[in-house]
Amino acid sequence: LWSVIADRFEQTLERPSYETFIQPARLANFDENGHTAVIEVPNKLSRDRWLNTYSQQFTTFAFETNQMLLSNIEVRIVEPVVDLFEEIDKTDNPEIARKQVLKHGNNLDPKYIFDTFVVGATNKLAHGAALAVSEGSLEYNPLLIYGGVGLGKTHLMQATGNNALKENPNQKVLYVTSEQFTNDFISAVRNGTTEKLRDEYRSADLLLVDDVQFLSGKESTQEEFFHTFNDILGHNGRIVMTSDRLPKDIPDLQDRLVSRFQWGLSVDINKPDFETRIAILLEKAEKEHIDVDRNVIEYIAKQVDSNVRELEGVFKRVSVIAKFAGNAGVTIDDATKILADLDIARKSEITIAFIQETVAKYYGLSIVDLKGKKRNKEIVMPRQIAMYLARDMTDNSLPNIGREFGGKDHTTVMHATEKIATEIEKDSALQKNINTLKQQINGE
Ligand code: ADP
Ligand code: MG
Repeated sequence: LWSVIADRFEQTLERPSYETFIQPARLANFDENGHTAVIEVPNKLSRDRWLNTYSQQFTTFAFETNQMLLSNIEVRIVEPVVDLFEEIDKTDNPEIARKQVLKHGNNLDPKYIFDTFVVGATNKLAHGAALAVSEGSLEYNPLLIYGGVGLGKTHLMQATGNNALKENPNQKVLYVTSEQFTNDFISAVRNGTTEKLRDEYRSADLLLVDDVQFLSGKESTQEEFFHTFNDILGHNGRIVMTSDRLPKDIPDLQDRLVSRFQWGLSVDINKPDFETRIAILLEKAEKEHIDVDRNVIEYIAKQVDSNVRELEGVFKRVSVIAKFAGNAGVTIDDATKILADLDIARKSEITIAFIQETVAKYYGLSIVDLKGKKRNKEIVMPRQIAMYLARDMTDNSLPNIGREFGGKDHTTVMHATEKIATEIEKDSALQKNINTLKQQINGE
């Protein structure tokens, strides 16, 4: 509804007015029977404008586009949550945090430990090898962990260092990004302190070099790193490296480094699967003592399948809402908004869980009842509608839908969908409800 009306505003208003007063506003609620709509705006100026002019236009548009008769538009001011999010992003930015940590001796950030690293099918080899190295194994030396951004390479590498020190605090552990290594080397050359720097690096028992792909094209740094590498392996020190790709695919990397990087074990780390994404979200929720509904967790895990960093970005916003939402908790609706805000919604993929959530909410039922076995009329009808929508709006098979509705037989689903399909023809109120539900499910 809102998007249809916002489109109308866009067509009729000057661009600046639209961007200042319509875009930041949102339809918080509407009650068709009470003919009331609630608009939320970010400040007093917007509120005045809305009360003076846009409310009336809103009423007109609501009628034109949805035959909706509204007589009362409430306009209220809510603080924009977005600013808060930006603030969090700033303070939690891993790059900034890392730079601050860099000033300390070994550059290890104590927050990256094995305990908080969720192991799944796509990272268990990397995890196992890293753990072994941290416990002193020379079997995988050097260890190279490679894979795309945000998949946990730095976390694993830092955990390796932290755990190694826990096992044996007397050893010398050094974490460095390949850029840091480059910078250190360049300034040492300038200051005439290369000897000191060499001692520093080459005496490491465990050297952790993050993102070695950035050594690409840096001839003299590569030369220096080659000797560092040989020295450390020569005195039975261990080396762990990460890269976004295999060494042979790093352009302008000396052949002798390419081959040395793969002397030990090269292990890849991949995008987490659905189960692991759920486990990661649960882990974060537990760590932050935040109670998030399982359906919401699953919804997010389904939608955000790119990498863990993005998953964390979504979770941070969820936790902010959870702190403010009180008993109501975080809803699928909230999650949908967060995803849209971050522009990572996979709108094409509508899930049965989301349909159930939407239908249950629409009819004021619990998900448990909707999926359950109770036969009261107030529950049976919405349940059949949800099954009908699941069949209509997703690619799921009848048995699959039955399973998602608490393990019902596929014939039950078939019966339900056929029944609703026939009733829609006769019952215009039902048809209208179903259209509204479809709009909500499609996020319109
Ligand atoms: P990369 O170095 O591969 O780009 P990071 O190690 O920086 O990725 O991970 C990005 C974020 O995701 C970090 O905050 C990290 O703690 C988190 N993360 C990644 N993988 C996992 C995992 N398996 N379990 C828990 N958190 C993870
Ligand atoms: Mg990294």
